[in-house]
Amino acid sequence: MIVAERKPIPELMEIVKEHEKVLVLGCGTCVTVCLAGGEREVSIISSALRMASRLAGQPLDVEELTIERQCDNVFIEQAAEAIERNDAVVSLGCGAGVQAIAERFAGKPVYAGLDTAFIGILEERGIWTEKCAGCGSCVLHEYGGICPVTRCAKRMLNGPCGGSREDRCEVRPDRQCAWQLIYERLKGIGQLDRLKKITPPKNWNSSLDGGYRVIVREDHRI
Ligand code: SF4
Ligand code: SF4
Repeated sequence: MIVAERKPIPELMEIVKEHEKVLVLGCGTCVTVCLAGGEREVSIISSALRMASRLAGQPLDVEELTIERQCDNVFIEQAAEAIERNDAVVSLGCGAGVQAIAERFAGKPVYAGLDTAFIGILEERGIWTEKCAGCGSCVLHEYGGICPVTRCAKRMLNGPCGGSREDRCEVRPDRQCAWQLIYERLKGIGQLDRLKKITPPKNWNSSLDGGYRVIVREDHRI
């Protein structure tokens, strides 16, 4: 899932200070699961904005709404009336959701209410960890399903770097060395031979550095 965090209320107050009526718009998918931008957080943030605006003597009407997915026009349509009757939108969707709303409502200010962080999983209650950097050319099959791009601090494809101590990463001693994990995993599934191979430099053409990426599925186009 996409993992995000709520922006602090003082930052949101600064963002909406020019407006009198705002819609706080939640998203029912990834950001609901990571407890950042679902119905519950819409309610919490809206209440906090109302309180902060009263304390600041700054008039602010806050409307609340949550739709199933902000990155999908079918669901965005359900928010159209609420968006139109407010001066601005504070989107609690991920960065894609915020931009989808802004593109659909060209004359309406749309602000990010969250800081979108990474693609990850819920590791344990209250802790999410990054698992994928969306590099566009997945090499997980070579490394026992453990991503060296995301989980090795030096992104080493032919690790380890030589700096690990016990099973700890040299760069982040609070974390396990990704290459220790890769070794143990490959050993466990009987694929240690994979480590004998020198992996050539990764082709980063498919990563983000050349600008935003597009996937075209001709079989789905009309
Ligand atoms: S190799 Fe790339 S696509 Fe695969 S998990 Fe790692 S970052 Fe994600
Ligand atoms: S110690 Fe391990 S995880 Fe840390 S940078 Fe070196 S190889 Fe990567």
